[in-house]
Amino acid sequence: MKHEEIEVYLSGYLDGELTEREVQLVDNHVETCADCNALVEELRQVIARVCQLRFALSKEEWERMERHIQEGILC
Ligand SMILES: [Zn+2]
Repeated sequence: MKHEEIEVYLSGYLDGELTEREVQLVDNHVETCADCNALVEELRQVIARVCQLRFALSKEEWERMERHIQEGILC
């Protein structure tokens, strides 16, 4: 699979929304592509940080933050 095609799958990949076959394709590419490797690492860290924050924020703060995320970096 080509690099351009992988980028389309990456967010689903991180969200666990891909089929087994698609995950395999992304895995294979990420292993051999330094760009995608770095991107996946970066996104994983962003997601981990967001998950940690989720426990520290009140419901209102969290909802505001979630909106920011949807409008910005993750989508
Ligand atoms: Zn790539």
